[in-house]
Amino acid sequence: MKKIAVLTGAGISAESGLKTFRDSDGLWEGYNIEDVATPEAWRRNPKLVQDFYNERRKNVLAAQPNAAHYALAKLEEKYDVTIITQNIDDLHERGGSSKVVHLHGIITRSQSSKNPKLTYPINGWEIKMDEVCELGSPLRAHVVWFGEEVPMIETAAQICTQADLFILVGSSLAVYPAAGLVNYVPRGVPKYIVDPKIPELNQNSSFIKIQEKATVGVPALVSQLLITD
Ligand code: NAD
Repeated sequence: MKKIAVLTGAGISAESGLKTFRDSDGLWEGYNIEDVATPEAWRRNPKLVQDFYNERRKNVLAAQPNAAHYALAKLEEKYDVTIITQNIDDLHERGGSSKVVHLHGIITRSQSSKNPKLTYPINGWEIKMDEVCELGSPLRAHVVWFGEEVPMIETAAQICTQADLFILVGSSLAVYPAAGLVNYVPRGVPKYIVDPKIPELNQNSSFIKIQEKATVGVPALVSQLLITD
C-alpha cells in the first residue's frame, strides 16, 4: 500500500467553525499569542490561560468534522494514510482517520504543569484551577506552547521521509518546527497543497497547487487519488 503523509493546519478546521490564527491578524480569538500560549503567560496569569483554553475546548466539543476531515478518512480505503496535524482539535479522529499525530497536543486532554508526559482525559469541557496531577502540580491543557519542545517532531519527520505522496492542507507554514517538515519529503514525491491562499514555500514550484477551501479541494483531490494508483 502506498503511504500518504498529510500535514494539516488550522485552515482545515475553519469551515467547522474553529477560527484560524493568521487569518485574524496574528490574533487567536482576539488574544495575543504571548498572553495565552507561552510558558511565561502561564506563570504570569494562569487563570487567564486556563480560561482561554477552556473556551477553546468548549468550541472544539461543539464543532463537527467537515467534508475535508471525512474525505481524508476515506483515503484509507486505498492508501496507508498518516495525518500529522498542528491542530489541537480532535476533528480528524472524529472524522474517522485512524492514524493521527498531534504535533501541538490535543485540547481534549489535560497535562501536568510539572511533567508534560503526564496527560489525562478531561471530564467535560473545563479544567478547574484547583485540579492537580499525580505529582500535586496544577493541570493545564495538553497543548504545546510557543517556546516549548515539540516531542512528536521526530516521529513526524520520519513519516514525511517515508511518504510516497504528500498533502498539505490549511497551514500558513509560519510555525516552526512544523513548517520544516516539508523539507523531509523526498525529492520526486508528488506534493499537493490545498489552501485558498497558497503560502510562500521555498519548494513552491514542486507543489501541485489546489487553490480552494478545504471542503472543496480535499474531497476533489481524494476522489482523484481513489481512482488512480
Ligand atoms: P494559520 O492560522 O497560521 O494559517 C491558516 C491557513 O489556513 C492559512 O494559510 C489560510 O489561508 C488557510 N485557510 C483558511 N481558511 C481555509 C479553508 N477554509 N480551507 C483551507 N485552508 C484555509 O494556521 P497554522 O499554520 O495551523 O498555525 C497556527 C497554529 O495555531 C497551529 O500551530 C495550531 O496549533 C494553532 N491553532 C489551532 C487551531 C485548531 O486546532 N483548530 C485553530 C487555530 C490555531
